Amino acid sequence: MRTRVRFAPSPTGPLHMGGVRTALYNYLYAKQHGGDFIIRIEDTDSHRFVPGAEKYIIDSLRWCGIIPDEGVDENGNVVETASPKHPHAPYRQSQRRGIYRKYAEELVAKGYAYYAFDSSESLENERKEAESKGETFIYNYESRKNLRNSLTLPEEEVKKLLQETTDWTVRFKMPENTVVKMDDMIRGHIEVNTATLDDKVLWKRADELPTYHLANIVDDHLMEITEVIRGEEWLPSLPLHYLLYQAFGWKDTQPRFAHLPLLLKPVGNGKLSKRDGDKMGFPVFPLNWLNSDGETYHGYREDGYFPQAFVNMLAMLGWNPGTEQELFSMQELIDSFSIEKVSKSGAKFNPDKAKWYNKEYLRMTSDSELAEEFIPILDENGVTADKEKVEAVVALIKERATFVKDFWGICSYLFKAPQEYVQKDVDKFWKPENVGMAFEAMENTADAASMEEYIRAHEMPMGKVMNCIRLALTGASSGLGIADIMRFIGRDEALSRLKAAREKLG
Ligand code: GLU
Repeated sequence: MRTRVRFAPSPTGPLHMGGVRTALYNYLYAKQHGGDFIIRIEDTDSHRFVPGAEKYIIDSLRWCGIIPDEGVDENGNVVETASPKHPHAPYRQSQRRGIYRKYAEELVAKGYAYYAFDSSESLENERKEAESKGETFIYNYESRKNLRNSLTLPEEEVKKLLQETTDWTVRFKMPENTVVKMDDMIRGHIEVNTATLDDKVLWKRADELPTYHLANIVDDHLMEITEVIRGEEWLPSLPLHYLLYQAFGWKDTQPRFAHLPLLLKPVGNGKLSKRDGDKMGFPVFPLNWLNSDGETYHGYREDGYFPQAFVNMLAMLGWNPGTEQELFSMQELIDSFSIEKVSKSGAKFNPDKAKWYNKEYLRMTSDSELAEEFIPILDENGVTADKEKVEAVVALIKERATFVKDFWGICSYLFKAPQEYVQKDVDKFWKPENVGMAFEAMENTADAASMEEYIRAHEMPMGKVMNCIRLALTGASSGLGIADIMRFIGRDEALSRLKAAREKLG
């Protein structure tokens, strides 16, 4: 059987990095098995729909290099019309609404589901009443016996209500006191007694839409999904999903399930949230997102991360190859990934590790590519330099940077004379006797090498003189080696910076 997995996001907001990881693991699994990775948009909950979220999700995956085989076309649009490449279109559940009713009705006919006519007000009253007794109201195998549904009302009345009213639903008839036996590719065997489960709504007459559970099972079946790889938050739904496959008579083709561990906050316990990101200053989302309240959520892309570094870091959050290897290209991830090696327990996110990955990828990126990225930044700072020079600069500084955006701060003085001098360095190194020696050494030599020789030959204090020169050249006493700096700016520019410093600092 051909492997077919899907990522099935609901467009209820920007995709959290945990969601990207779910998509990534699905993608890796599909590619490793020579199968298909499908995108399906689960947008049947119109109350939670957020404009722009679908595009954000697709753009995020594209940025990461997670390219679907089916469901989204080359231009990043969700496919609406069936074709050989996209046989199950439309891939947006809201556009598939016509499909689901008959499945809901089929379950009623077979006795696995029933019609429920309780108004939202009457259910609200039940809830309040239970609350006043310190209990919680659950629509389940017990309470359904006293509620208004096709199990309790006379047949004639049911027929009438179905025809004349529009706020009824189809609910799953959870079997009484039955143990559901399940298998998870990560967690192993699981058993749950149905007594703890409620009669979930599957379909709503009011908007003629299925709920998540029905649409999800029907579509996974129709789309011939072989493995469902999704977040741990869906584990409580697994018994219902098992029972739905059984009720439909689809046991033979039921997909296997894998529930991925949560991403945890860097300190303490609990799920990684946007708030942790705000507090500790790291991104939790792949791309920037402008929220409806005007707040911008930070994205890895805009914060300067390479998509490969982000993907590599995410892959390792909850999975490890069982070796020491930490750096993986996408192809290497495809080759080494295995669901069985995904951990059961939550994966603690470490923002420093994310930076470490970026630093490693920056190092591995060619000088030429880095120069291409740096040139626009130079432009913004009013510097025009030819590519060859920029490449040489990049080669010199890349080990010191984590992001390309660090470059300018590290080496601006290779392109522009410093405008300011760090005061504590001035206090420490800009002493009249050192300044005098610095001038003498530079004026009497043609380059950094001979200048060093001169200082040595004249028994001047090397450290003091050099720091004085460095201060004049860069504005501070730290930075690149003087020989490197002078190679870039030339001896004449160096001398003029020394003069400028004397004018400003005395
Ligand atoms: N639409 C669900 C979500 O937003 C999909 C869950 C699943 O993969 O079954 O996470």
